[in-house]
Amino acid sequence: SPGLYIVATPIGNLGDLSPRAADILSRADLVAAEDTRVTAVLLRHIGTKRPMTPYHDHNADHVRPQLIARMATEAIALVSDAGTPLISDPGFKLVRDARAAGHAVVTIPGPCAAVAALTLAGLPTDRFLFAGFLPSKAKARADTIAELGAIRATLIFYESGPRLGATLAALAEYLGDRDAAVTREITKRFEEAVSGTLPMLAERYADAPPKGEIVIVVGPPGEAPPATAEDGDAALAEALTRLP
Ligand code: SAM
Repeated sequence: SPGLYIVATPIGNLGDLSPRAADILSRADLVAAEDTRVTAVLLRHIGTKRPMTPYHDHNADHVRPQLIARMATEAIALVSDAGTPLISDPGFKLVRDARAAGHAVVTIPGPCAAVAALTLAGLPTDRFLFAGFLPSKAKARADTIAELGAIRATLIFYESGPRLGATLAALAEYLGDRDAAVTREITKRFEEAVSGTLPMLAERYADAPPKGEIVIVVGPPGEAPPATAEDGDAALAEALTRLP
């Protein structure tokens, strides 16, 4: 039926495409793809061929109204090059406008590098904050890290090989010796997860930029001593019992 279908696709291993994703993709009237060449490979893999249109950061504002108009009568699938659309990828404004126009919006969830990295890192998962790509300019990057550093949560960053060393050095400088993990090429042949403190990892990757796609996971700050008035009273009472 007509509407917008948000379709997650594999982040490396084609076997991770869900049957439901394959079904929606093979029946969509139109597939809006970040890069139609990349998506053509996926459609070929599932033995289908659908009309495609590019939808990426550079044409989105122009294309979006046309897609919204077509959704009234057509099933439009949104995919990105890899993983879940909207997550460090285009799509949020398309969903916003589709909903505002009263169209059905349906999600077909699946692979996402951020969540996959979290499952490999061996760091606390009860609270986490997805921070995407850090700014590339040093000042903006430092400001962002300082802001995130105050949050009591595991932090997740996307990164590329060439920038990994500089990013780890900046994280170590502002966040200290927190536990972290560098995960790489998830679901692919050279998948790996390397654990260590931020300074250890910064040193390891300083002159050895790894190949492939990377997610950095940083554990939460250490437990600070609780500083409530009640704790103060209890500490005082306890100290008094030890007075001669
Ligand atoms: N929408 C995607 C998702 O759901 O994960 C993310 C798109 S973002 C433009 C691309 C970044 O995701 C890469 O630079 C890398 O940080 C991360 N990434 C994607 N695939 C990955 C993989 N197989 N292993 C590790 N990181 C990956």
